[in-house]
Formats: sequence, structure tokens, C-alpha cells
Amino acid sequence: MSVHERSRLIRWRMGWLPGKPQACRNCNQINTLTTQQHAIICFQINENIDMNIHSFLNMIPKHPPRSAAQKFYWTTRWTVLQQFLFNLEAICLPPDEPINPASYTDQSPFVAWINGSSRLTTPLVLT
Ligand SMILES: [Zn+2]
Repeated sequence: MSVHERSRLIRWRMGWLPGKPQACRNCNQINTLTTQQHAIICFQINENIDMNIHSFLNMIPKHPPRSAAQKFYWTTRWTVLQQFLFNLEAICLPPDEPINPASYTDQSPFVAWINGSSRLTTPLVLT
């Protein structure tokens, strides 16, 4: 996975992303703050990856899957999860500090690894 992907995943796991709760700029509803609980609901991430994020992360395979169905499963859900974390980080940064769009890629090294087009031996190597 990329440095940015890894950073966002670790910060999510540690509870540092979204960071200090502030008004949610995704839904812009009154009195909604950017807590993890709200972000999960606001972005409908559990529905979009069909499970709880922590459960999903605990299921990351140790070896690239062999079946096309499993490759598709991991590719689609990984992409959705990374888009969610990118968008969440974007709304949590100060308005005068826009997120670097280059910190998101649709050419994830993890997806390449899942699909067997990477020489990496583990999905957790930084690239
Ligand atoms: Zn919201």
C-alpha cells in the first residue's frame, strides 16, 4: 500500500482520523461533528464495504487471492475504503489547507498486489 494509504489507515485505527471533532462538511447538517461514529454513518462506509471497517482490515489476506471473485472483492472494497479515508481527511483539514490530490491514487500498490501484478511479497510494504 502507498505511504498515504498506510498513514490514513493507521490514523483511523488509532482514532486520530478524523481528529478533533468539528462541523461535518460532508453533510453540513447542524450540530453534526466529525467523529468516527458520525463519519461511518455520514459516508455510509459500512454499507459500501459490506462490513465494519475494523473487521474488514482484520481480514486483509496474507497472500494474494487466487480466485477472480476474491480479487474483485478486495479491489473494489479497498478502493472504496481509500476513497472514504481520503474524502474524510479532506473535510477535516482546515479550509485554507486543501488536501493534496496526489495523496490519493487509483493505482494502489495493494490492488496491484491483490491482482498478482506486483513483486511485493506482502501487502503492507511501503512503496
Ligand atoms: Zn456528516
